[in-house]
Amino acid sequence: PAELETYAFNADISQLMSLIINAFYTNKEIFLRELISNASDALDKIQFQASTDASKLDAEPNLYIKVTPDKDAGTVTVEDTGIGMTREEMILHLGTIAKSGTKAFMEAVSSGADMSMIGQFGVGFYSSYLVSEKVRVVSKSNDDEQYVWESTAGGTFLIWKDTTFEHGVLKRGTKVICYLKDDQAEFLESDRLKELIMKHSAFVGFPIDLRMEHRKEEDIEVHEEGEEVPEKRRKVTVSYSWELINKNKPLWLRPASEVSHQEYAELYKFLSGDWEDHLAVKHVMQSGQVDFKALLYCPTTAPKDMFDMGKMSQRFSIRLYVRRVFIKEFNDLIPKWMGFVKGIVDSDDMPLNISREMLQQNAILKHIKTGLQKNIFSMFEELSADKERFRSFHEAFSQCLKLGVYEDHANREQIVPLLRYHSSKSGEEMVGFDDYIARMKPGQRHILYITGRTKRDAARSPYIEGLKRDGYEVIYMTDPVDEYAVQFLKEYRGYEVLSCMSMDAARLLDHRSEADLKAELAPLQRRLQELVGAQQTVALAALNPECCAQLASSDQGPLLQLNFKHSFVKEL
Ligand code: ADP
Ligand code: MG
Repeated sequence: PAELETYAFNADISQLMSLIINAFYTNKEIFLRELISNASDALDKIQFQASTDASKLDAEPNLYIKVTPDKDAGTVTVEDTGIGMTREEMILHLGTIAKSGTKAFMEAVSSGADMSMIGQFGVGFYSSYLVSEKVRVVSKSNDDEQYVWESTAGGTFLIWKDTTFEHGVLKRGTKVICYLKDDQAEFLESDRLKELIMKHSAFVGFPIDLRMEHRKEEDIEVHEEGEEVPEKRRKVTVSYSWELINKNKPLWLRPASEVSHQEYAELYKFLSGDWEDHLAVKHVMQSGQVDFKALLYCPTTAPKDMFDMGKMSQRFSIRLYVRRVFIKEFNDLIPKWMGFVKGIVDSDDMPLNISREMLQQNAILKHIKTGLQKNIFSMFEELSADKERFRSFHEAFSQCLKLGVYEDHANREQIVPLLRYHSSKSGEEMVGFDDYIARMKPGQRHILYITGRTKRDAARSPYIEGLKRDGYEVIYMTDPVDEYAVQFLKEYRGYEVLSCMSMDAARLLDHRSEADLKAELAPLQRRLQELVGAQQTVALAALNPECCAQLASSDQGPLLQLNFKHSFVKEL
């Protein structure tokens, strides 16, 4: 072609491509999932544009994905009638724009992450180089003419305006043509491709048609002219047909009873980029004030960088669909601490053409938010019924729960019953506050805890000796975040949550009667009042709450609160 231009890849992308192209990695099949997911994204985008301007679909009203293996050319092609790319967009999105995910992905891979996570890092397209020696992208946007992008990696790519239409004329959309490496011929087999699409992409919301190849081989006898004996030959007839692979409705629209664990898992992996199955799923079909369907997943393990908020928001979120049209990926449909939950919500009640900014104020969305939270809690509660699974849940996400305790005031009451701790009576098990309350001493009105760096440290704390001897159970809070979270946990089910290091806890061991105590403290109280009277900085004994209250309300200069040892108070 005449106007062929060469561009250099962004340096990181170039490095990524050579990593991919040379990768010794067996699970190369994921390239197909990535290309189909890009096709599906592109279809989502044009459908979304068309929701406010129907004419956007004029050039090609049918929205679909086609996958074509071609043995003669040694190629597999993924085609979509999505939004397409202009020349400029191809240059930007397929090679020159720096993406933060590029480096992050390479680092993740070098520290052992699975290559199949590539999609999460926003560089899924380049996985085509796992199987290809050359990739061509032919694209037609409503806003430009048809262009071709091509690269054999090696640091550069080519762009030209399509004049020969070697790969046909596109009305709108994109064709990605993978020229397979010699040893990747398995991806030329339509049966193999069918298996992969069913495995990884069955839930894509647009039809995926696969070109199936039918070979008929037969032995025939050919009579050459002049020959006496007929010659035996093998005759191969090849015919093709299109087969729709994803015949089923999107998973979340089907009754839960008809969806298998396998199907849930595949969708979960698609949404999260996780390679492990989910730990739990909640399939929600809510009708009433607002109708919506949702799939909410709890992962099995927490990602290493869970508390890296930037990545957390990028990775963990809920996808919102309105009538099967993908609208937006949200980070704030659920509270931040719940961010490890992944899911999809699809509502028929929202207007399709709602602007993305307007979404924030939308009343229906508020109902959906509440509904999602309620269901996520019920998923956690269901999990708590299964000891083993709940243990694994708690191990992975207790830090998030504790984050919720101090961050999410509105839901605190629901989070606290999910917390588990070791205690002076729990042995190897862990207990929740409810277990604790159930086996309290008769008349006990406090939930007692001690903080420590480790379980061992906590167990050996001098503060708990007496309490243990007196038959109290003490909860060990050994996570650094506990110390912070417990400040927001003054009370649970009417029981005061009390540190064993506090004076109130010490008082539990004091078996003197109230009247005795009062009499004993009376001189101290008088002495303190004299001090207050003398406009001194007052050392206030936390021993006697009544006395403290009097001093605090006496409004006599600054009060300095000290935790006195009993003896020291007496000296004073
Ligand atoms: P991601 O899909 O996470 O954005 P990819 O590396 O898979 O990352 O794709 C990069 C970009 O290339 C996409 O964001 C999109 O702009 C563009 N792109 C890729 N495939 C297509 C396609 N089939 N149609 C339109 N644009 C595409
Ligand atoms: Mg992608």
